[in-house]
Amino acid sequence: MAKWFKIDLWKRVLVALVLGLGAGLALRYGMGPEASGPFAIKWIGWLGDLFLRLIKMLIVPLVFFTLVSGVVAMGDPKKLGSLGGRAMGMYFGTTAVAVTLGLIAGTIIRPGASLSADVFSGVDSSAITAKKATAEQAGGFVERLLQIVPTNPFEALATGNILQVIFFSILFGIGILMARDLGKPAAKFFDSASEAIMKVTIIAMEMAPFGVFALMLVVMADKGFGVLQSLGLLTLALYLTCAVHIVLTYGGIIKFLLRLPLKPFIRGVSDAQAVAYSTSSSGATLPVTITCVNENLGVDKSIAASVLPLGATINMDGTAIYIGLVALFGAQAFGIDVTLGQYVMVAVMATLVSIGAAGIPSAGLLLSAAALEQIGLSETNALLIIGFIYPFDRLLDMMRTLTNVTGDAAVATAVGKWENAFDREVYIAEDRF
Ligand code: ASP
Repeated sequence: MAKWFKIDLWKRVLVALVLGLGAGLALRYGMGPEASGPFAIKWIGWLGDLFLRLIKMLIVPLVFFTLVSGVVAMGDPKKLGSLGGRAMGMYFGTTAVAVTLGLIAGTIIRPGASLSADVFSGVDSSAITAKKATAEQAGGFVERLLQIVPTNPFEALATGNILQVIFFSILFGIGILMARDLGKPAAKFFDSASEAIMKVTIIAMEMAPFGVFALMLVVMADKGFGVLQSLGLLTLALYLTCAVHIVLTYGGIIKFLLRLPLKPFIRGVSDAQAVAYSTSSSGATLPVTITCVNENLGVDKSIAASVLPLGATINMDGTAIYIGLVALFGAQAFGIDVTLGQYVMVAVMATLVSIGAAGIPSAGLLLSAAALEQIGLSETNALLIIGFIYPFDRLLDMMRTLTNVTGDAAVATAVGKWENAFDREVYIAEDRF
């Protein structure tokens, strides 16, 4: 038992991920694809659900307590401006690179070229329209901006509306600062509460190896690698582009922009990556991302708690890559020639969709209709493409979620370093095996 805890958590989690993958596939090929899914869900599913519930439980209190105490720790509301500006700039910059890479890959690999339009004849896309609603926030742009302001912060906390929680927490932190001496007990309370909730996250993370094992097992038993048969080139294009983006863009940020060694970063975020990969939800992964960035990468709580929740909601580079790929996939399947102007429009759409998509499974795919329509597909045909990919989306979603979360962590590290809220010693300490 003591030996178990001595092994670094990230190693345990990665081994669990591989074991879950292997066990799931073994089950699938042992029992047959029809029986293995329901069997795995029935017997192991609960373990994955338990872990998911545990980390989801932490999202709201973790963001609320740490963000309020983070704002108070900054001591000066003006710092929030520079921090917010830097984070947003980096989020946009990395997403722009991601979209470009996605479009280049889609043009070279041509994932949809071998399909002919008649493969879509059996697709039932009627369910997609209903599912789409969960993947986006309702209303137009102005309305969405307005909705960031909660009319009832307790309701925002209760329903887990992260942007509203961020908004209220920042203002409340500023309020505590403005209350000066009278605000001190509140400051102390949030400081202590945020410390405590971080510890609870560490307890929950001890469940991660089991949770990740179970989640991977269920996905593999249920879905297997079927995606490779139907969407092999799309899968290849996405995995490859995400890997290139992680290595070149995020690696470049860490190594050349921040002048930090790369190994500690990779090691420090691997827990969050494994949880992102097995849950397909950057929202659910958020508590793990915050803990990794703070505990392993040495970024101050104040930065981690403000930059990361924002990133989990608006920064989705993997999703942006994917939307570009899906748009080209659709064009190729329907034999449409894409003009330069359409490329630009798809890039813009992919960026907007990646910002608007919720950090939940398959959100990116469900919202890709906008980009497909830019490329000249009718709404019906756009829905056909989405309906065609949807049953196989899981394995694709896992990779883009991993990329989304890695991007959030890279930006948080950069902002932490630039804002002098970064502990090099802690970061370097990860540079061991
Ligand atoms: N599942 C992704 C996420 O949570 C979003 C997407 O579907 O691309 O980050």
